[in-house]
Formats: sequence, structure tokens, C-alpha cells
Amino acid sequence: MLDSINFELITQTAGISRRLHGTRAKCLQRLIRLGMPVPDTVALSIPLVRKIASGQRPDLKQLLDHFGSWPVLSVRASTEKPEWGGPSTILNIGMNRANEAFFASKLGAEAARKLHIKFIQSYAIEVSRLDEDMFDVPDLTVEKAYEAYEHEMEEEFPQDIEVQLFEVLKSMARAWEGTSARLLRMSKGAPEDAGLGLVVQRMAFGLGKGESGSGVIQFINPEDGAPKRMGRYLPQSQGRDALSGEGRAMYLTSDPRGESLQDNQPEIYQELKRLGGVSRTGLREEMQIEFTLEGGKLSILDAVVAPRSARASVATAVALAKDDIISEADAVLRIEPKAIPDLLHQQVHADAKRDVISQGIAASPGAATGKLVFDTVAAQASAAQGEACILVRRETSPEDIRGMHAARGILTERGGQTSHAAVIARGLGLPCVSGASDLDIDPKAKMLTTKDGRVFEAGDIITLDGTAGQALAGQVQLVEAGIGGPLETLLSWADEHRDIGVRANADTPTEAAVARKFEAEGIGLTRTEHMFFAEDRLTVLREAIFAEDGSDRTAALARLLPMQRDDFAELFTIMSHRPVCLRLFDPPLHEFLPSSRGGIREMAEAMGLSAKEVQQRIDGLKEFNPMLGMRGVRLGITVPEIYDMQARAIFEAALQAQTDDNPKVVPEIMIPLVSAKREVELVKSRIDAVAADIMTKTGETLDYRLGVMVETPRAALRAGDIATHAGFLSFGTNDMTQMTYGLSRDDAGRFMSDYVKKGVFPEDPFHALDRDGVGELLELAVERGRKVRSKVTLSVCGEHGGDPDSIAFCRSLGLDYVSCSPYRVPIARLAAAHLAIRDPKAVEEDFEFPEDGSFVPE
Ligand code: PEP
Ligand code: MG
Repeated sequence: MLDSINFELITQTAGISRRLHGTRAKCLQRLIRLGMPVPDTVALSIPLVRKIASGQRPDLKQLLDHFGSWPVLSVRASTEKPEWGGPSTILNIGMNRANEAFFASKLGAEAARKLHIKFIQSYAIEVSRLDEDMFDVPDLTVEKAYEAYEHEMEEEFPQDIEVQLFEVLKSMARAWEGTSARLLRMSKGAPEDAGLGLVVQRMAFGLGKGESGSGVIQFINPEDGAPKRMGRYLPQSQGRDALSGEGRAMYLTSDPRGESLQDNQPEIYQELKRLGGVSRTGLREEMQIEFTLEGGKLSILDAVVAPRSARASVATAVALAKDDIISEADAVLRIEPKAIPDLLHQQVHADAKRDVISQGIAASPGAATGKLVFDTVAAQASAAQGEACILVRRETSPEDIRGMHAARGILTERGGQTSHAAVIARGLGLPCVSGASDLDIDPKAKMLTTKDGRVFEAGDIITLDGTAGQALAGQVQLVEAGIGGPLETLLSWADEHRDIGVRANADTPTEAAVARKFEAEGIGLTRTEHMFFAEDRLTVLREAIFAEDGSDRTAALARLLPMQRDDFAELFTIMSHRPVCLRLFDPPLHEFLPSSRGGIREMAEAMGLSAKEVQQRIDGLKEFNPMLGMRGVRLGITVPEIYDMQARAIFEAALQAQTDDNPKVVPEIMIPLVSAKREVELVKSRIDAVAADIMTKTGETLDYRLGVMVETPRAALRAGDIATHAGFLSFGTNDMTQMTYGLSRDDAGRFMSDYVKKGVFPEDPFHALDRDGVGELLELAVERGRKVRSKVTLSVCGEHGGDPDSIAFCRSLGLDYVSCSPYRVPIARLAAAHLAIRDPKAVEEDFEFPEDGSFVPE
């Protein structure tokens, strides 16, 4: 027999800890400290429960002594984190033939009989694992319940409370150890060896004479977090019966639709309201409180963090901080960065014209436009090129996850609200339309056919409205998400704490506007070649790349110049007073040469050549490995007129965008794919010459900052050299990852999932920065760059800039800022704040409940 040391009556001063006894036990102690009427409760420690699971029996006599004579008890799970789940609560332990008569005199015969039957049923189902249907008989009596039990079990129902309690404890302890329970909690982040604590509580009966019943109350609206008293109360009930009361339960507050606790029991209602306020300030959280009335006497049995949406979580954290119940830093820490995407959905504009091609299920909210792709490889290739895509599948499976990560929206022919596609898309904050059964999807042919016979092929543009469950033809006007209200407040608090800057990668005025709205501190990367993805502009860029002689090229560049100038001026204006970093052209040729017949014909027309001649020029420019070919600064060195034109466009745009309110625009110009110092010198001297020419001609002064993208391993190793000519270095970790691993960005999708599954890579290094390899190069570059130029600005502008773990690494290197896609800016702001707030408290993991009556539930 085990000694009593492992269980403890919960009192104000008992040594209860979340680690040892679980959060529920600790929370009950807090409620007791706040003076709430909690029935006597004993906490069983996690080690004790482990021993019980192995069949060892604690000194239950001593435990039962805490509950006096005729004890009737409940047992609830108490895990370290509530989201890990746990076995179901068992009520009315101790009911037997002998005490039914006693309780009949106290509560009435009917109530005592009900308690007795309820216990036999729950013991049979939860402990003896019998089928619940066996009690599905008309006019179930105690005797019929016993008969059913004994018939199945071929033994008498235990009458001894010690036996009953031990069997209950053992079955709960063993249920926790079961494989499926373990896998389930591990999927929610529990460690493999997570333990279970249990709490044994004296029953407050919700059945019997006088006003008796049970209910649940909370004080916020779970959708938006606004103050609202909500819940249900069910007379003559126990536990959480009120929530499944099938219409028999009363409202809590006065309601024209029916009876309410407020009208029927105004004093009790007032007391609950008061206790709600006490728990909010005392527990520093919005709680959902479980209560019972026994003959008019109120007991508080339990309290859990009130369930709520991501939006409500933010509103609640902000409200608690505004009421000085928690600090602003605590409010920031309460919201996980990964919860943010839920709050940032763009929507289809209310006045937009809708050409509905399919009506399915609104599986995940928001809207997105992109080109159709039919598999993961295509989705990843599209994302690697910075192009939005909509992934279309008959249904999705785990093999599609990487494609779903890369897509802006998901459309599936099959499935519903809880299909794989729907669940994953919601997790990723992507719009999803599932169950679009009016479409005929042919993944092999990479096309879909609508009900009215229209055919859409890979590459065609569609818009998904996940809020309405529709797929729409073409591009449709979208309204950008707003982060107003509490989220804006929370992020402004986050900004006060974070110590690493957050900029956005934005290629177009639309993206810049989003970046600005999400309070990016500037643009960290504009991929200027992406400004030419629109079909009417692409031809002009292609002409410049294609030109065979100087005069052809001069003509093409002259057409490009005003387009660039106006685009840049717009970016400067949108980002007014914030830095804008424009990267000179970096077009890997395979992305920019026409491949379709139509594209070749168009080029031929535009250049006054025959299709054959165009094809010959394409052949002449074809590279075996375009990602390592004539791209980035290599193009700038070989055909310097292209960068000259860009420099001119940037400077003219800066002058154009200057206003009385924004009198000095200082552009940042960044050179891509550098691997040698001399490349920087050559480009710099030409940019200086362009600036000097414009200054002479206009009489204006021009300032600019020149920087280098460090995205080849050699640039990282030679960062000291390179920094002599660069005011800033920005790590292009996409290419750096590609080149460090020798892993093609466009082809890795084919084997990446196998590599991760087999543990070759712990994670896809294009998502989570590889600290060991790529990270070491970054470290070297930081050290060498800073040695030569201590004030050199350092940043990351690869996709990793929006990944919280990678941000942690960047911060540890002392980088000045991260730059990520506009929608990840709020995530990055919050993640960076978490890092800064947690930093001084380094061993946050071991945070214990403060002994001042307050705690922060996870
Ligand atoms: C990079 O390589 O990390 C980068 C930002 O540039 P791009 O993705 O345009 O190659
Ligand atoms: Mg790059």
C-alpha cells in the first residue's frame, strides 16, 4: 500500500503545483484562495497516479477521511496543460444500496434513486467498459441496472466505496497510459511521458429538494471576446448536463425566449456575476465556471479557461491588460504567433462581379486569387517564383501538405467541413472550398470542367471565396484584411518590446499597401523583375533581355524606364517615411523566356522578328542550369545598361515622390547574387555615375544606400570584403539554402517529404532555417561583415524571415531586421516580441504559479 504523502487536501496553503498535480488542481486551489465555495477536494499527484496505473493501491482510508461520513465523490483529470485532454469525469462514486436510503431522507427518494442509477451506469461504461446500450431499457430501476451489470460482468456490483474508488482511479490512470490517448495528446504538443494528476471532490448534488441543479457560466462571447454573460442552467442535473440539456436548460440571463436563472434565482445569479468578477481579477483570465445548486446552496466545482476563437483570445488579452489585470507584456505572450493568420483574411469585395464556377462548402474563410495548379510540385514551383496559386485536388492527403503550404487557397472536389483539406487549410489560415462536387477535376490532364462545360487549365487564374464556399473565374476585387481593434493594440504593445526590426517583401503597390497596413517598418525586398509578371509588361522585359544589339536594347530599356519609375515612385509614396529596398533585376532566364507558342508569337510580333528567329534567340540564351546561370549581378555586369536604367528609374522616382511632407526619399539599392567584391565595385561605380548625371541635370541632391544580397556561400565567406562597399547586407536565405545544400528550390518538392519523413532533414530547410549549415555561414558573414564595417545593417529577406523559429535565430545573430511577405509581418512582429519578453526570464519553462493568488493558464 502507498502512503498518503502523494495526495493532499487542497487548502489555501497546501503544496499544490501544476507540475506535480496538474492545472485543474492548481486552479481549484486558486478558487479556494479567492474564497469561492469549492467542495472539499483532494489532489492526487502525477507520480501517485502512475503507481495506481501499475496496480498499486494508495491508502484510500486516509484519503476518504477527508470527506467525513457518507462520502459521495467525483474524480476529474488534472493534466499539466488542459489541451492535452484526459479521461472523462466520473460522478457519484460511493453510491450503493446502503446509502441510498440515507440520501433519500436528505435529498428525497427520487433524487437518491437517480444518483444511484447514474453511478451504476457510469461505472459500468467508464470503468468496466460495458456498452451503454445495455441500460437503454424503459423505466430503468436500480435493480434493473444492477441486473444488467451483473449479467454482463458475472460478478456483483462493488458496494464498498474503497473498491469503487480504487477501480475508478485505476481505470482513469490506465486510460491515460493507453496508446490512443498518448498519441492524441502528443498531437497536441504533450511530451511522450506527460503525466496525469487526478482530483477527488466531494459531490455537491444538483438533484434533490429545494433549488437544485447545475450549470456553466462564462463572461465573454467566445466569437469576439466582447463582455457577455453566457451559459446554461439545468434544474435537477449534475456536471455539465446543462450544456447537453437538449433545450430543457434555462438561459442564465433574462431572455425573451424562455426561463432564465436571472429571473428565477436573482440572488444566485448576482452571486455568480460577482464570482465571475473575482475569478477574472484573481485568476487573471476569463474563466468558464461550473457550478451546482444543492437545496439553494451554491458550490463552485471547477473552472476552465473560457473557450474562444483566436479573435476572442486577442480581445480578451487586450481587455485584461487595459483593466490592469495583466501587464501588456503578458497580453502579448498570451497570443501565439501561429494564431494570427486566422485574423488576417482578405475577402471578396461586396460589389465585386462574381462569375461562379463552383459552389461548394465554405471550409475555411478568406479569399485568394491565383493560378490553378493541380499538384504539390507545381504549387511549390509557383511559390518559389513568388506567384500565387490555388491548389486543386479531388481531395487532399498528408502528401499534399507541402503543396498546401505553398498555395494561397485550396479547392477540393470531395470532403466537407472536417475533411483533411478543410482542417489543414484552417490551420494555415488559407481559404478553402471543399466538396465542390459540381466540378469535374482531372489531375492527370491538369484541367477542370465546370457544370456548364467550361474548361480551366493549369495556369488559368481563379479566385476562391472560402467564406462563401465559391470558386470564381478570373481575378476578382478583394478587400484586404484589417487588423484594427484589439489586434492592432496588441501588436503595438508587441512593437514596444521587440528588439529586431520587421520589414516586408513587397513587389507591387498592392503588396506595399498591405505591408504598410500591417505596420511593416519598411520594404526589405522588392523583387523588381516581379513588377513585370503582368502579361502586357513581360514582353517589354523580354525584349530588353533578348536584344541583340545596343540600339534594340536602348529602345526596349527606354520603354521600361517610365514603367519602373512610376512603380518605384508609387512604392516610395505608399511607404512614405519608411525605407524601401529595391533589388536590381534578378531574372533567372528560365522564368522569363517564353515557352508557349503564343508567347513566342507575341515576342516575334513585338520585336518584328519571325517566330523562328525568336526561337533561335531563345535557344541561344538557354542555360543548363538557369538558377546558377546568367542571373542577378551577372546580368548587371554583362549588360550594364539594364542596371543603369534601373538606377535612373530609382533616382528619378525618388525625386518624383518627394513632397513637402516627405522631402527626402533615400532609396536603398540592393545587388543580387553577388559572389565577389569586384562585382559590387563595378555596379557601384555605374550607379554613382547615374546619380551624378541626374544631380548635374536637375540640380537636386540625391542620397542612396547601396547594399548587397548575401545569398551565395562565397558572399557569406567574403562578407568582410564585400562590406567595404556595402552599407547593408541582406541574407537571401532562399538561394543560400539552395546553394549550401546543392538543393534546387524548384525541384526539392519531389523528395522533400521523403527526406523529412525519414529524418534526413528535421524540417524542410526552405521553411525553417537550417541553423547548423546555412546558419553557420550566416554567423561567419555577420562576424566578418561587422569586423570591417561595424555599423553595417544586417537582415534576412528570404522566406525564413516570417518563421518564428528562424526569427529567433536571426535575433540571436544580432541582425537588425527580418523581412517577410506582408501577411507574415504581424506574425513576425508578435514572434519577435515574444523572444524579447522571454529573453530576460530565460528559464520561462519552469515558470511556477505565483503564490499571490494569480496564475496564467496556458
Ligand atoms: C533569396 O534568395 O532568399 C531571396 C530573397 O531572393 P529570391 O527568392 O528572389 O531568389
Ligand atoms: Mg535569391
